[in-house]
Amino acid sequence: MSLYDRSFNFSAGPAGLPLPVLEQAKDEFLNFRGCGASILEISHRSNEFIEVLDSARQGIRSLLKAGDEFEVLFLQGGSRLQFSMIPMNLLKTEEDYGAYLVTGTWSDKAYAEASRSNPTQLIWSGADDGFCDLPTSTQLQQASESDCAYLYYTSNETIHGVQHQQDLQHDVAPTVCDASSDFLSRPVDIQRHGILFACAQKNAGPAGVTIVVIRKDLLERSPDDLPGYLNYRQHAHGNSMYNTPPTFAIYISDLVCRWLTSEMGGLEQMAQLNQEKSSLLYTAIDEMSDMYQGHAARSARSHMNVTFRLPSEDLTNQFIRLSEQEGLSGLRGHRSVGGIRASIYNAMPRAGVLALRNFMESFYTQNRNSK
Ligand code: PMP
Repeated sequence: MSLYDRSFNFSAGPAGLPLPVLEQAKDEFLNFRGCGASILEISHRSNEFIEVLDSARQGIRSLLKAGDEFEVLFLQGGSRLQFSMIPMNLLKTEEDYGAYLVTGTWSDKAYAEASRSNPTQLIWSGADDGFCDLPTSTQLQQASESDCAYLYYTSNETIHGVQHQQDLQHDVAPTVCDASSDFLSRPVDIQRHGILFACAQKNAGPAGVTIVVIRKDLLERSPDDLPGYLNYRQHAHGNSMYNTPPTFAIYISDLVCRWLTSEMGGLEQMAQLNQEKSSLLYTAIDEMSDMYQGHAARSARSHMNVTFRLPSEDLTNQFIRLSEQEGLSGLRGHRSVGGIRASIYNAMPRAGVLALRNFMESFYTQNRNSK
């Protein structure tokens, strides 16, 4: 067991948070910055909370280099609500449609949700290959020429462990990115996006808040007759306080942004560390390929969710049981893919990844002949 008896937590989300963030939250939990009450107990209209909200917004803006042409919204309903809000807000006429790149479970669900009540175009799907690869650059070029009202993609597929290595862009229409599982893990070119959204519970805070960065001109597309909560413009006009916002989750997200900026040195440095961490695991997979088979094609490998299989169900179960005894938790792959998934978001220290790599090596040595 590691510090404070905490295991190295490889859960896909809600996921581990940076220890300094948890420590600060613990220190100021009962009396928030001298105001005489917990952050959980104060009004969202109080000066103390407005400061937190402004700071969180500013933190995200500066990490993403998002200027005044973007609005940063803090919403509820998880990323799944965004699957519905996007078509509701961006499609203006009956002829308008969203174009979808389906690269894994999450973009598949977003496509299915949008298709329930809106015209959609399926531009590309990796379903037939079990979502182990991404579109080629020629296919992406074709996607960028679609006559759609928006182009939708998921930058990192949490379940399958495939990740676009660059930001996509459409020639004319706004690009919408579900960045739920790689948000703030590397620099993005926000200028390429109309909307970039992420639930917080992987890289940016606890469950309960979803961050939506939206180009301000797109707010004009939201139809007036949408239910209030579902209208981006309402949230922007209400300063993300159309209803009572998830105050505690926003507070933790603010601490995460501060940690990223002051302790990790910003997104370039964070990306470099994330690359180093993932390559420690991918080289282990490649070096011991008679035991570990990576799910994702090499060029599509995710730096956030490393997915691989062992030769049998029995070995997989043993791997999980023994790794738990070593203080490595949350390694079971998603039930739809099986095998192992190591989620190594920003807060996973290099030491945790090294511990997993060492475990993979000793498991290999002990079991290589029993396959
Ligand atoms: N998109 C991606 C890429 C995800 O990983 C998840 C959650 N695992 C979601 C969307 C859905 O998020 P939520 O549960 O917050 O609705």
